[in-house]
Amino acid sequence: MLPDELSPDCPRCSGLCCIALAFDAGPAFAHNKPAHVACAHLSRADRCRIHPALHAQGYGGCAAYSCHGAGQYVTQTLFGGRSWRDLDEPAAMFAAFDLARDWFALRAQATLAAPRAPPGALRDALHAVAETLRVVPRPLTHPDVRRARGQLQPLLARLRRAGRARGLPVVEK
Ligand code: SF4
Repeated sequence: MLPDELSPDCPRCSGLCCIALAFDAGPAFAHNKPAHVACAHLSRADRCRIHPALHAQGYGGCAAYSCHGAGQYVTQTLFGGRSWRDLDEPAAMFAAFDLARDWFALRAQATLAAPRAPPGALRDALHAVAETLRVVPRPLTHPDVRRARGQLQPLLARLRRAGRARGLPVVEK
């Protein structure tokens, strides 16, 4: 179970996953969407017009997606609650979202993995990484994300060898 700050809080986000990310038409998405182009179903208020019917409309991929709290972090903490629509250079917000997604996904993965480890050094190390990831560097950079991933991945590999890593969120890249 993830804490609230690692769960999406869409009303506090500016619809970042619905504009910053790309998706391809297929079983999970009913149309193609390039990155940095607003989804056709995103309202001017940055809300999904079809949210109650995502599966029925062919957008199960949206229903399954979690930013692990990166969207509200970027919108509220980094951009003072503003929407990408209000920015002269929204690409800066999208770039921040890309990095934050990775960081928050790593934190979610460490948080979920720690209790699955047997009591001892591995569990302690996973807890320590999860605790370190609570503090998001400002500015957050690619080397920060690479470093955090480098700390976590060997621990997850050990957890996998112990056969207890099933169902953890996938960390991209
Ligand atoms: S269908 Fe809705 S949730 Fe999915 S990308 Fe479009 S606006 Fe966002």
